[in-house]
Amino acid sequence: MVKVTIDRPGCISCESCWITCPEVFEQNPDDEFSEITEQYRVNDDPGEGEVPDDLADCAWEAADSCPVSVIEVED
Ligand code: SF4
Repeated sequence: MVKVTIDRPGCISCESCWITCPEVFEQNPDDEFSEITEQYRVNDDPGEGEVPDDLADCAWEAADSCPVSVIEVED
């Protein structure tokens, strides 16, 4: 499993992460910031998730694409 976090208040809703990796990231309908998709969320926290290893590359790619570097991925 790979840990993924989003420092959500810093998100500028550029859409890059959820276009790059929609399995892991989506747009929150209320505040419009990025959040972890429900199935991979930890502790009901929209900014914290754990994803299976086969989604690690996509999560990394999304993190690299974030213009404000608010996504962290940890092996
Ligand atoms: S790539 Fe970064 S700034 Fe853009 S929507 Fe995702 S978290 Fe927000």
